Amino acid sequence: MQNRRAVVVGAGVAGLASAIVLSRLGWRVALLERRERLKGDDLGMLLWASGVRALRALGVDATLDASGTPVDRFEIRNEDRLSSSFPGAAPGAADGTPSVMVHNAMLYEALVSRLGDSVEVFPATQVDRIDLVDLAAGDSSRRWDADLVVAADGIDSPTRPLLAPSSPTTDAGAVVFRGIIPAHRAPERTADAVEIYGPDRRRFGYGDLGHAGACWWATVPGGMRPESPQIQHELINRWFADWPAPVGKFIAATRPSELTQQPVRFVWPPPAKLHQTVGNGGVVLAGDAAHGVAPILAQGASLALEDAVTFAWALRRSPESVPDALAAYERARVPRIKRVARLSRRVHTIASGGRGVTRGLLRAVPDSWIQNQAAALADWQPPN
Ligand SMILES: Cc1cc2nc3c(=O)[nH]c(=O)nc-3n(C[C@H](O)[C@H](O)[C@H](O)COP(=O)(O)OP(=O)(O)OC[C@H]3O[C@@H](n4cnc5c(N)ncnc54)[C@H](O)[C@@H]3O)c2cc1C
Repeated sequence: MQNRRAVVVGAGVAGLASAIVLSRLGWRVALLERRERLKGDDLGMLLWASGVRALRALGVDATLDASGTPVDRFEIRNEDRLSSSFPGAAPGAADGTPSVMVHNAMLYEALVSRLGDSVEVFPATQVDRIDLVDLAAGDSSRRWDADLVVAADGIDSPTRPLLAPSSPTTDAGAVVFRGIIPAHRAPERTADAVEIYGPDRRRFGYGDLGHAGACWWATVPGGMRPESPQIQHELINRWFADWPAPVGKFIAATRPSELTQQPVRFVWPPPAKLHQTVGNGGVVLAGDAAHGVAPILAQGASLALEDAVTFAWALRRSPESVPDALAAYERARVPRIKRVARLSRRVHTIASGGRGVTRGLLRAVPDSWIQNQAAALADWQPPN
């Protein structure tokens, strides 16, 4: 596939990982990103063992390159009672790969540093059309012809409705506030990754980022808050005032400037179609553009990395035919995406029930079920 041209739209985790694998396979890649700079966010996130394996296949060690901290113990709490607790190694038990908490900006830098010489980056480029007749992508002033277009432009991708019109983005009517705290201000933790289910459809989770500090995430029903970060901080303080320790300590240790908020949205139902052939090439969806799952199980970045690694496998397998490779990618990814999307939505629905529903279900669900589901989520290996 020497000298073939690919256009990757969007330089999030999915776009960067796609550009890395394509350049390794000898493609010339134009990476188009609407933001002025390629940079990650000052956030902590969980990477499951599956994502850690995918990263490894891309030549990135989550622990060394992204300041990742292996999760020794996960805890799920039902208000002030422990509901489930299991070792972080359990979900990756087959080969001992741990799940890790990573610093998003560091993960991003590690991916950027792996972009090959054949990747040309075009920042500040807002793609406003993808030509599905004479394959190309373009903005208001330029057009990039291509043999392959990877749409990795996030959950609002305008390409998904063209390929999979029955898989719209759903707004879940909730917002997640996320905080990051430098190590010298971070409160003591009892476990490496904890999620507490509380009343009023609220949840609070926190995790350990090792020398990069600690992070937390608070889910509350409602829309994005228009207030200043200072007021948002006060609101979060009030909403979680009577929650068990160390919730209050995490909030108090966070400065308003260390807060971000994101709406909870997801693609439902998951798409059955991820590509379209165009002549001898085609267009393909990757990352949230393809499947944006409900964030409750922290699967999105891992799935995006798995997409890229699977895509590389498919292109290696069918070096002479892009359409065959795209079809193989779709066959390999759709069942996995469906499984993760279904479970994420199911848990999201449980967590969004009233207090009685969530409490009752958390009590009724056996620990073994939770651990089995976690193991199933992490059970992905790079294809070979
Ligand atoms: C609250 C919350 C918590 C989460 N926590 C976790 C977690 O702990 N672990 C985990 O694995 N996942 C988590 N996720 C999910 C994860 O963040 C996403 O799945 C992941 O970032 C998807 O990456 P992506 O590259 O597909 O999309 P994005 O990160 O959205 O990247 C898309 C890129 O495309 C660019 N773009 C968009 N449109 C255009 C255009 N027209 N032209 C050019 N460029 C364009 C954007 O600027 C962006 O850079 C969480 C999500 C949320 C909302």
